[in-house]
Amino acid sequence: MEAETASAETASDRLHAVREHMARAARTADRKVDDITLIAVSKFHDADAIAPLIEAGQRVFGENRVQEAARKWPVLRERTPDIALHLVGQLQSNKADDAVQLFDAIHSLDRSSLVGALAKAMDRHDRRPACFIQVNIGDEPQKGGCTIAALPALLSEARTAGLPVGGLMCVPPLEVEPAPYFALLGKLARDHGLSELSMGMSADYATAITIGATHVRVGTALFGPRT
Ligand SMILES: *Cc1c(COP(=O)(O)O)cnc(C)c1O
Repeated sequence: MEAETASAETASDRLHAVREHMARAARTADRKVDDITLIAVSKFHDADAIAPLIEAGQRVFGENRVQEAARKWPVLRERTPDIALHLVGQLQSNKADDAVQLFDAIHSLDRSSLVGALAKAMDRHDRRPACFIQVNIGDEPQKGGCTIAALPALLSEARTAGLPVGGLMCVPPLEVEPAPYFALLGKLARDHGLSELSMGMSADYATAITIGATHVRVGTALFGPRT
């Protein structure tokens, strides 16, 4: 889309364009756009690039690395306390403490060892960020996420440990039609009584919304290309 390359546009222009696309997709599916959270994925972008988006009214942001987020966000948050920060990248168990303190939602719960680490960290810090279980929906060896077969046991383990699991997250395979993968994630969520679906990125967030996404994770269309 144009927003990916046009650096002459302001952050505010790009935000309005993305919100307009979201509204159109929601209307197509007879959904309310207010039921869909736009997560502005700011990984690799520094505070100077993020600040204009905050000024334009964006409040929900995503990062894929704990350390990068810990470096950038405390100062930005001091200025704008009502920001929500979502972790959308893979999480190592030894970073669970930092993640629980820094993030309001974690989209990458994908294995048993992380359930234990997060449960302990949440107890220790008395903070319970919303969790999404990431599913490796295309069964790709290089990708994070639990297998579809492992989902029921992982979910039950997470619930037993008291993690607030609200939904599922996926990153479908590149360069193939994503709709069938989004539909499959939606079915898995329904089968397990989960209401939230974190799916859709710059190239396909409109498609994801027509298939039920409640959270779209958009980077490039809001910030321009990452260097
Ligand atoms: C980087 C990233 C995004 C945003 O990708 P864009 O294509 O730039 O919109 C979304 N989800 C995850 C998990 C990411 O790592």
